[in-house]
Amino acid sequence: MNNKSPEVLLSEEEIQARVLELAAKISADYEDADDLVMVGVLKGSFIFLADLSRRLSIPRTIEFIAVSSYGNGSVSSGAVRLVMDVRGNIEGKHVLIVEDIVDTGHTLKYLIGMMKSHRPASVKTAALVRKAESAEVDVTIDYLGFDIGDEWVVGYGLDFAEQNRTLPYIGFIKPTDA
Ligand code: 5GP
Repeated sequence: MNNKSPEVLLSEEEIQARVLELAAKISADYEDADDLVMVGVLKGSFIFLADLSRRLSIPRTIEFIAVSSYGNGSVSSGAVRLVMDVRGNIEGKHVLIVEDIVDTGHTLKYLIGMMKSHRPASVKTAALVRKAESAEVDVTIDYLGFDIGDEWVVGYGLDFAEQNRTLPYIGFIKPTDA
C-alpha cells in the first residue's frame, strides 16, 4: 500500500451524526434497564464503542472481547475463534455487543451465542456498518449505522494490515492505489 489517503466513503460528520442518533435510541430503549454492559469486539470496535458509550444518557459499563479475524488478509473463512472473553460477570445483565463491521455475519452470530452462554438478561447488537450483499447467515443488528457495498473499508477503528485504524472517517483504498 502506498501513502495515499483512502477515499472517503462515510465522512467524520456523517459518522458522528449517526452515532448520536444510535446513542439516543439506545438510551431510550434501555432507560428502565439496570446493568447495561456494552461489549466491544477488539480491535476494530474501539473507536465506535468509545464514541457511542460517551453519547449515552444512561448508566453503562464496558467490557471487551477478542475473536480471531482474517489475519492480514481480507477473505472470510467463516471460522471464528474466541481469543479473549469478558472479564466481568455479565450474568443477569443486559448485554449490547458493539461491532465495527458485519460482513458475512459469522462473527456476530458466534458472539451472540457466546454471550448467551453467560446467561445475561438480554443480548442485543450494534454495528457501525454492514455489508448487506455479503450476508451468509441471518443475524439481527438492533442498532445499525450504515449499509455499505462490498469493498474493504478502513478507518474509524477498521484496519488493513493494522494500518489506518485512527482515521476519523471510513474510507476505501482504490485498487489503483493499493
Ligand atoms: P464476518 O464474520 O461478518 O464475515 O466478519 C466480521 C469481521 O470481518 C469484522 O469484525 C472485521 O474484523 C472483518 N471485516 C470484514 N469486512 C471488513 C472490512 O471491509 N474492513 C475491515 N477492516 N475489516 C473487515
